[in-house]
Amino acid sequence: MSDSTHQPQAGAQPARRALLDDEPVAEAIRCDMCDAVIEGRPAGSGLFMWHRGDEVRYEEPPLCEGCSGALTLGAVWRWSESAGEE
Ligand SMILES: [Zn+2]
Repeated sequence: MSDSTHQPQAGAQPARRALLDDEPVAEAIRCDMCDAVIEGRPAGSGLFMWHRGDEVRYEEPPLCEGCSGALTLGAVWRWSESAGEE
């Protein structure tokens, strides 16, 4: 006998993943600079201070890991540059 008993079953279907589409997505946090979706917690947040007369406002936009580092470096670089001016 040479009949193969390993024939694919006609009724077998791959499991569908419709659940992923229907699942309500928690509000995604996006990087304020590059708009990348941040998984979990933001790596960091830029801290902006605004002066308006006597009023000081703080804003902390969520940033991804890359932009958080870039912004920090840029801020320090700018700050040191302007501080060097006399
Ligand atoms: Zn980013």
